[in-house]
Amino acid sequence: MLQKVLIANRGEIALRILRACREMGIKTVAAHSDADRDLKHVRLADETVCIGPASSTESYLSIPAIISAAEVTDSVAIHPGYGFLSENADFAERVESSGFVFIGPRAETIRLMGDKVSAKEAMIKSGVPVVPGSEGALGDDPDEILRMAREIGYPVIIKAAGGGGGRGMRVVHAEGALMNSVSLTKSEAQSFFGNDTLYMEKYLQKPRHVEFQVLSDGQGNAIHLGERDCSMQRRHQKVVEEAPAPGITEEVRARMGERVANACIEIGYRGAGTFEFLYEDGEFYFIEMNTRLQVEHCVSEMITGIDLVKQQLRIAAGEPLTLKQEDITITGHAIECRINAEDPDTFMPSPGTITQYHCPGGPGIRVDTHIYNGYRIPPYYDSMIGKLIAHGENRNVALARMCGALQEMIIDGIKTNIPLHQRIITDASFCQGGTNIHYLEKKLGL
Ligand code: ADP
Repeated sequence: MLQKVLIANRGEIALRILRACREMGIKTVAAHSDADRDLKHVRLADETVCIGPASSTESYLSIPAIISAAEVTDSVAIHPGYGFLSENADFAERVESSGFVFIGPRAETIRLMGDKVSAKEAMIKSGVPVVPGSEGALGDDPDEILRMAREIGYPVIIKAAGGGGGRGMRVVHAEGALMNSVSLTKSEAQSFFGNDTLYMEKYLQKPRHVEFQVLSDGQGNAIHLGERDCSMQRRHQKVVEEAPAPGITEEVRARMGERVANACIEIGYRGAGTFEFLYEDGEFYFIEMNTRLQVEHCVSEMITGIDLVKQQLRIAAGEPLTLKQEDITITGHAIECRINAEDPDTFMPSPGTITQYHCPGGPGIRVDTHIYNGYRIPPYYDSMIGKLIAHGENRNVALARMCGALQEMIIDGIKTNIPLHQRIITDASFCQGGTNIHYLEKKLGL
């Protein structure tokens, strides 16, 4: 097993990784910025290293700072968490060429799946259904682009091959707007991602976001852990997630799960990963793969009883996957609310000191958070401060438990989106299940 893991992240996920390491007897190193000395996992880690100032470009995004931290602490492996450098192929490559284990896929897999054009091509090759669209990247010939859009049928969406975080995409409803949208997206793609390659897809009007969790050891073994529904989104950011996805039958789960697990074997995938799909009228359309642990991994853990971080650590240590597909059984239903330090109406971040914190509890409740009484949330990073997860024998029980837990949870001193979650959890359409990705913004009148 890995002797010592450097945690190159912060907040709740750093604490989540630390807990998994501790359970497995692995020593931990918390690599933190100057503004994060008071983080809970920094206090609990076996060793700590300050990797730079508050600004994440000089700390959590600094490859040399993190590699040096691993060197001076004699760490064996680096866990990137999510966000920051977790899907940066150059980082993964540097980690391995410096003699450390990268807890994630090989750099070339990250590169393959990080380019959405090559990712789609790889999926088509392994029989995973994709959104109908351009074959490969868009060329420069306007007539060809116009012809393609006509063939796909409006509305279409123009997307950047290197895009991420919901940026670098534009919906086009009619031919008159096409070429202008292409050139705007091209220049945006160049300035955001340093890559102006574009592709075109059919724009699906009322899809749900349904994604599959996989585990693959890079040695020819892969399994899936079922799907999650993450359709409750604002500005392409997930707000509430659940597993399983309402209305997905066991047969459909088994069929899609087998396809994504096979795709993992074909691309030599190593680690935990997620295949994201848009789901409309009973059909799945692949949009992208996340080659890392996701924020919402907990709902899959709750319904399968599998600890995904421990699995990541075992795979990174070179152990073959011992879990077989038939070992995975889904029990009940789990829902996750992302708790953000933000105004529930304006969505403005609300950093500051937590004066009172009361953690909810009871059967089926899990709280993944790094906050504590007196903790000061720094203004420099993402506003997510934790996740509240409710599990029950069925969706109604999970909803009822979430409802109670949201009432019990007290976070004073800052504003949080708990009131927004209370509205979502009691919303009639959400309670029914199966709302599409535009539902939340419509409900909020955005
Ligand atoms: P990113 O990496 O920036 O998150 P994705 O390709 O995952 O980009 O797309 C983000 C979101 O954009 C999707 O969850 C969906 O809401 C919307 N979207 C992307 N492609 C399409 C499409 N073909 N039709 C409809 N919506 C889409």
